[in-house]
Amino acid sequence: MCAKILLVGQGLAGSVLALQAEEAGFDVHIADDDRPIRASQWAGGLVNPVSFKRLTLSWKIDELLPVMYQFLTAVETKFQLKFYTPLNFHRVFASIEEQNQWDVISEGPKGKYYSSKRIENRNSVAVEAPFGIGEVLHAGWLNVPHFLSVARNYFISKQKFHQQTIAEKDLHKKDNMWVWNEIKFDFVVVCSGVSLTEWPSLSTLNVIPNKGETVTLNLPEADWNEMIHFGNFLLPLDTNKYKLGATFDWSPTDEFPTETAKEELLKAFQCHIRTPFQVLQHNAGLRPTTKDRRPILGCIEENGIQFFGGLGAKGVLLAPYFSKMLVAHLMHGTPLDHEVNAKRYLKS
Ligand SMILES: Cc1cc2nc3c(=O)[nH]c(=O)nc-3n(C[C@H](O)[C@H](O)[C@H](O)COP(=O)(O)OP(=O)(O)OC[C@H]3O[C@@H](n4cnc5c(N)ncnc54)[C@H](O)[C@@H]3O)c2cc1C
Repeated sequence: MCAKILLVGQGLAGSVLALQAEEAGFDVHIADDDRPIRASQWAGGLVNPVSFKRLTLSWKIDELLPVMYQFLTAVETKFQLKFYTPLNFHRVFASIEEQNQWDVISEGPKGKYYSSKRIENRNSVAVEAPFGIGEVLHAGWLNVPHFLSVARNYFISKQKFHQQTIAEKDLHKKDNMWVWNEIKFDFVVVCSGVSLTEWPSLSTLNVIPNKGETVTLNLPEADWNEMIHFGNFLLPLDTNKYKLGATFDWSPTDEFPTETAKEELLKAFQCHIRTPFQVLQHNAGLRPTTKDRRPILGCIEENGIQFFGGLGAKGVLLAPYFSKMLVAHLMHGTPLDHEVNAKRYLKS
């Protein structure tokens, strides 16, 4: 008989883990209560191998990217649907120093992610780029809401999706198994994003909420299909429809969209791109971040409740690699990497 696993939370973390755990042979149940603070529903969905702050490569990119491609190819084949679009990413250089730094990197060993080709400002809409534009390779976009909705419908069709809140008090242990709703589980994995209040035994995990806001714009004169970055990103969604984001607020008091963040985004947009626009939508979510910027996997106490999360601003890239690691750990006892292991939060 295959081992049973209950996942609490069906955001990116829970959905990717659910599909990988099932593929590995687990009998998977998943629950979600659609709370408004969830991050995945509002994620940009961008995959960007380069961190523009210092033009460094994203952490573990050479290991994460192949696993992400492998996972997305497998789910696209399974569902006969397209979730991921490879898109080049145009970086509007912030200074001449950045342009020079880019040229040096693109000629070196990390050059496979930084194109040495200079991009012409060839859009019909003018992008203010006095220092030029560079192109990041191997970037792309996951349509996260579409992926989540397909994953949910799949588990609904198997009668393994539970539309409800689950808290630690709803579970008890019997014969070394977790019992919830009279169903016995070998493992319970909480994938609850920033929400940890229902889980006293996970209270030492320090998941820090970071609020992000985006606006969706109608740009009737825009015709480009690349992602553009000028301090903020602009992502093509549909004909004339673009997502502009995202803000970072490290001290959020709530999860609601704010006028301040909207103005910040629109000001940055208007400084760099001259074209008429209308705001179609404005959204906010809370990114689950951690102090050491590393995800959290596993349990704190031996045979305790497991956690998978802390994916920060890079959920799309991190989720497949680290859920695969957690699945191997639960199935075969394969050790978790120390830097992502939940046990790093153990109080000494
Ligand atoms: C504005 C914004 C833009 C972003 N852009 C990008 C991007 O471009 N690229 C990228 O890779 N990442 C991006 N991110 C980050 C990404 O969204 C997160 O890393 C990722 O979505 C986190 O997923 P999660 O499943 O851990 O958490 P969540 O998405 O928050 O999911 C947690 C789920 O658990 C459910 N839940 C919680 N508690 C319970 C309970 N007790 N019972 C039942 N259900 C429960 C919630 O309803 C929720 O659905 C962005 C985030 C934001 C906010």
